[in-house]
Amino acid sequence: MTAPASAEPVPSRESLQSAMDRAAAVLAAASEVAFVCHVNPDPDAIGSMLGLAGALLGRGTQVVCSWANDPMERPDWLELIGDVAPIVEGSAFPAAPAVLVTLDAASIDRLGSLEDRVPRSGEVVVIDHHVTNPGFGTINVIDPRASSSAEVAYRLIRQMELPLTDGAAAALYAGIVTDTGRFQYGAATPETLRAAAELREHGFDHARLAQALYEDGSFAFLRVLGDALERVQLVQDAGAGLVWTYITQEDLARAGASMTETDDLIDVIRTAREADVACALKQQPDGLYKVSLRSRGATDVGAIATAHDGGGHLLAAGYTSTLDVPGTIDAIVAALRAAPRE
Ligand code: AMP
Ligand code: MN
Ligand code: MN
Repeated sequence: MTAPASAEPVPSRESLQSAMDRAAAVLAAASEVAFVCHVNPDPDAIGSMLGLAGALLGRGTQVVCSWANDPMERPDWLELIGDVAPIVEGSAFPAAPAVLVTLDAASIDRLGSLEDRVPRSGEVVVIDHHVTNPGFGTINVIDPRASSSAEVAYRLIRQMELPLTDGAAAALYAGIVTDTGRFQYGAATPETLRAAAELREHGFDHARLAQALYEDGSFAFLRVLGDALERVQLVQDAGAGLVWTYITQEDLARAGASMTETDDLIDVIRTAREADVACALKQQPDGLYKVSLRSRGATDVGAIATAHDGGGHLLAAGYTSTLDVPGTIDAIVAALRAAPRE
């Protein structure tokens, strides 16, 4: 596959290591560090943040973590891993931190209302694995080859020889296991598996964590899934095929489900072998549709998302659409017909 049109150049091993060295020096010297991950955080965002913050806390650094959702909903899996590092509401986040670390945020706007901290901070350490990340920090530790931001954070923890509590290890593990699709995707390298194995040495309840991450939906979500599957469509003449569906705020209200429960929808519809690309449109409270795109391997969906002011990876990407459902699908179909493919 050719490099995606949307991608920043992949950094050389040397420049990545030099960024790691500078990040390690800044973090080792800081007495206080503020951490922020992307809005609507997934386990990689929260896990990489808590893992690194918890490790620094263990050596006496003052840390504070946040993300910009208001109100802030803490996912249930966090209850299993205990208090790894302090999490505060965005309103209580330092206004101008000396050292700010961003995690899993592909661009500055993914920090939501906390993006204003970036220009106000002394050093901004960006830890990420999105190929579309332009490098908005003063130090950019961005490895598009890494499975997850948690894997990058773990590398930094190892390099700095920081202590790791069981809770911090569990947080990092949650990030790795979810961003690799339970070690399924190509980005799960031998290094990823070694990192996961080392983290698994720690004393956390792996089976309960996996259950909390993967088998903790509600009955209400099954009703929403039913609505989505009833409307699912296959467009065979769009690139290598498109399978798509949508859910509305009304579906959620009728079933009594919340949007945070719908992350698995895209993983169900992407199983159809007839389509290379899967797309789920999810209506947000403001009425706009959040678009999730996945490719089975033949399409650069990151380029499509970037062209719509979103981002992500070659095979998993997203954006927020300003169009209605038919308009959004028409635009995606047009992009797929125009896109080069293998
Ligand atoms: P999702 O479909 O929400 O699971 O997102 C898939 C991938 O696309 C993730 O790696 C996200 O970080 C990225 N992504 C989703 N939405 C956006 C957006 N609005 N801007 C940038 N990246 C996004
Ligand atoms: Mn993420
Ligand atoms: Mn990630």
